[in-house]
Amino acid sequence: MGRKPLLLLAFLPVLIAPSRRPAVAVGRISHESNSFNPARTTLADFDRRTPGLADLERLAEGHDTLAGIVSGAGKYGLELYPTLLAAATPKGPVATEAFEALVEDMVRRMRQAPRLDGVILDLHGAMVSEAYPHADAEIVRRVRDAVGPKLPIVVIHDFHANISEEIVRLCDVLLTYKENPHIDTRERGEQAARIMAALATGRVRPVQALVKPPMIYNIVFQNTRRPPLAPVVEETRRLEQDPRILAASVAGGYQYADVEAMGPSVVVATDGDPDLARREAQRLADMLWETRKQLTLKLPDAAQAVRQAIEAEAGPVVLMDLGDNVGGGSAGDSTFLLAELLKQRARGWVVTIFDPEAVQEAVRRTVNGSFDFAVGGKTDRFHGDPVRVQGRVRSLHDGFYFEPEARHGGQRYFSQGLTAVIAVEESRPEQPSLLVLTSRRTSPNSLHQLISLGIYPERQRILAVKGAIAPRAAYEPIARRIIEVDTPGLTAVNPARFRYTRVRRPLFGLQ
Ligand SMILES: [Zn+2]
Repeated sequence: MGRKPLLLLAFLPVLIAPSRRPAVAVGRISHESNSFNPARTTLADFDRRTPGLADLERLAEGHDTLAGIVSGAGKYGLELYPTLLAAATPKGPVATEAFEALVEDMVRRMRQAPRLDGVILDLHGAMVSEAYPHADAEIVRRVRDAVGPKLPIVVIHDFHANISEEIVRLCDVLLTYKENPHIDTRERGEQAARIMAALATGRVRPVQALVKPPMIYNIVFQNTRRPPLAPVVEETRRLEQDPRILAASVAGGYQYADVEAMGPSVVVATDGDPDLARREAQRLADMLWETRKQLTLKLPDAAQAVRQAIEAEAGPVVLMDLGDNVGGGSAGDSTFLLAELLKQRARGWVVTIFDPEAVQEAVRRTVNGSFDFAVGGKTDRFHGDPVRVQGRVRSLHDGFYFEPEARHGGQRYFSQGLTAVIAVEESRPEQPSLLVLTSRRTSPNSLHQLISLGIYPERQRILAVKGAIAPRAAYEPIARRIIEVDTPGLTAVNPARFRYTRVRRPLFGLQ
């Protein structure tokens, strides 16, 4: 009897010790690969970071998925173990050696983790490598092999993911961005952390259902802030209010990857209720399918669009260069709109072209020097011929800029490389026509791309923007009008311009 209190005391430290927080590895290998683009994406194209624990606090300040994961880990009690964070601007398929090096590095770091209760993978979902048409699934397979069948894996995908049964089977919960432009990336990161906390402590047992309506959801209709997609996305938010539903995702898909999983997808993850998951996924897929009659393409070509922009009463008019959508994996040096603006003698325009050679020429001429050079159309044969531009070098820049607001993807720091601004001949000083020449392909998701160069975008008449939906988050607040232009290029909006051999058939929207 007398010894009992002692025994209790001996056990007390165990009883009152706080339960340890689940340790969760975080990895990102993110690429949207345009399988029609012959230019391979190499290791040098990837921005690779391996942040330490000390870096996480700073990363939490941003708007991207990682910021959400870090802040969610704080809220829901996870201990993060960052591994590799790698991402590259969309381009052609990822070269085998790059894919192998990245995945090996990430998996090795995960194996080295002192303990692990879960993995969050931030993958685009439309990555194609030379060896794997569904490269994201291959990444999850290798992570699964490394961590075993029981450890929970949560996958975050971009809205443009092409999702397959295979990847859904390999992970526990897969969720996608809801918004396009992608302004909800931080929110999705937090959601992933919340789900992981429930998974790692055994509070939920997820089951998932995937339904793919047999269609292409053309990129020009993938604006989630407008019909026909807005009500579908709204419905996923409503479903997630139901505590039985962990995540309800609608991905628009990425039409420039000729792979079996190409096209829109619905994934619903519930807590142990496969019928509910299947039923709601089917219902959301039916909603997508029902919108198909609103998906008729009828857009002006470059000549018509430039004419409309010149005739517009007020600017700025944004000409969305759909065929050279840098964020969709095109070259970034298309000249169709530039040639047309010069031909029709438009005024007060801004065109941005990736052309390191022309930048070097501007540097040789120095500021105020005269400039007479053929620009653009140099990467491949899909984006027009080089166009002769005459003018003077207005300014030269290092090409760095910072975006404080939540814009597409949540990225804050950008570099377009050494950059030259050319004032084109016949320009009026109060509203010059300006050619921006960059040394790196950069998706135009931030107005600071121009502001940092001393350009006031809201004062210009015409802004040519190489994108589709993504730039809208930045440009809609200042644009009087946005004209989507059916330009040629590796992201041409009409699927009939491409030869598909691997996609499922039939697909509505594809001949
Ligand atoms: Zn995307």
